[in-house]
Amino acid sequence: MPTPLTLYDNFTRSLRVFAPLKATEVGLYTCGPTVYDYQHIGNFRTFLFEDVLKRVLEWNGYRVRHVMNITDVGHLTSDADTGEDKMETGARRTGRAAWEIASLYTDAFLTDMKLLAIEDPTILCRATDHIGEQIEFIADIENKGYTYRTSDGIYFDTSKQPDYGFLARLDRAGLEGGKRVDLGEKRSITDFALWKFSPPGEKRQMEWASPWGVGFPGWHIECSAMAQKYLGDYFDIHCGGEDHLSIHHPNEIAQTQARVGTRLANFWMHGYFLLANDAKMAKSEGGFLRLDSLVDRGFDPMAFRYLCLTAHYRTQLNFTWDALDAAATALDRMRNGLFALPEGGTPDARYIERFSGEINDDLNLPRALALGWEVLRGELPPASKKVTLLAFDRVFGLGLGAWRPKEESIPQAVHALAAARAAARSAKQWVEADRLRSELHEAGWEVEDSGDGYRLKRK
Ligand code: AMP
Ligand code: ZN
Repeated sequence: MPTPLTLYDNFTRSLRVFAPLKATEVGLYTCGPTVYDYQHIGNFRTFLFEDVLKRVLEWNGYRVRHVMNITDVGHLTSDADTGEDKMETGARRTGRAAWEIASLYTDAFLTDMKLLAIEDPTILCRATDHIGEQIEFIADIENKGYTYRTSDGIYFDTSKQPDYGFLARLDRAGLEGGKRVDLGEKRSITDFALWKFSPPGEKRQMEWASPWGVGFPGWHIECSAMAQKYLGDYFDIHCGGEDHLSIHHPNEIAQTQARVGTRLANFWMHGYFLLANDAKMAKSEGGFLRLDSLVDRGFDPMAFRYLCLTAHYRTQLNFTWDALDAAATALDRMRNGLFALPEGGTPDARYIERFSGEINDDLNLPRALALGWEVLRGELPPASKKVTLLAFDRVFGLGLGAWRPKEESIPQAVHALAAARAAARSAKQWVEADRLRSELHEAGWEVEDSGDGYRLKRK
């Protein structure tokens, strides 16, 4: 019996067996990047978790319709709907136009996604291409009585929904009682902007006409509007980072519930944070690591992908250079080990089933990865090891099959010496093996033995 796919749903705070809502395909919405700056490796940990989720769904035979948004507008620096617009701040910081930085950082994001072998979403949608849909959405919930107007915008009235904030298990009474923040004209601390007016007498770089006045949409409305447009009123899975659990996702749910009466998605899943030296890695706080920062230190981007696979998505992961180094070494061994194996085998059914069991257990990739090592080091026929591990890699996404050693840097004569030494060792001709090792040393090469063969390294 294949193990059923079980996923942790934060809406119910429980593990649930996944069953798709529609027979044809699984609808998946993942909150995308805000493009006023580069994405940091923390952001990519979340995108990698979502990529693995998608691959696991595909492993289980589902076709996935994946929608990801690009937040290229608005997004105030504080969750309280005050502070500056991040796009306009980014524009000032770089001395470029807001539209220009949006396109620059979107391109940088897409380049990094490719380097990490994250599959393209089925639909990648920009907030600025969907202003009309957002205005219609707001107008609709205004008609239904969920909004009010202040001097700076149109707000969602959370008091209209008794179950507002359920996803966050929000203690509304406690929040209201303990508030010390300046609400401005907001009626409640949990109310949030749907539309913000351009400040009087000021021409913003990004602004649009609307029934309420010139301005720009609040951050949350784009996800409700685009998810509905591309996935319908109620779809299978909605994802984001753990920070979205408290404000962004409850607000998406509030808006959609007001318009169509659903909670958007059947499953709500969240990737937990990547920390840097045990602290939050936040774009708005400056000083963060980009994928390029790793590449500059000589790391293969795939080493970061491997590192992310070693931790369960529902635990935080502390990033250190040592941990990345260990991941790079392990990936290197796995690539070389697999490369050395012969072609032409069939996958091992028992291992494939065990693998399904691990990944279907709420994406237990650390254990699935350990199983990959068990295959590589175990007793299966070599050709069977190869195809079994390549099958696992459909989920790992490490590109193991396409990888080639940098042969040109190892001279043929050195290869020959190493092969002769391996043969001498198998024949237990230790003296001869040692002599060949010395010869390799003299040629400037170190040979490292491992359970799955040997590796050549420059001395
Ligand atoms: P943003 O561009 O800030 O909207 O973030 C893009 C995605 O990265 C969202 O799903 C966030 O929840 C997620 N995210 C932000 N910071 C981190 C972090 N340190 N670790 C993991 N995910 C994060
Ligand atoms: Zn969102």
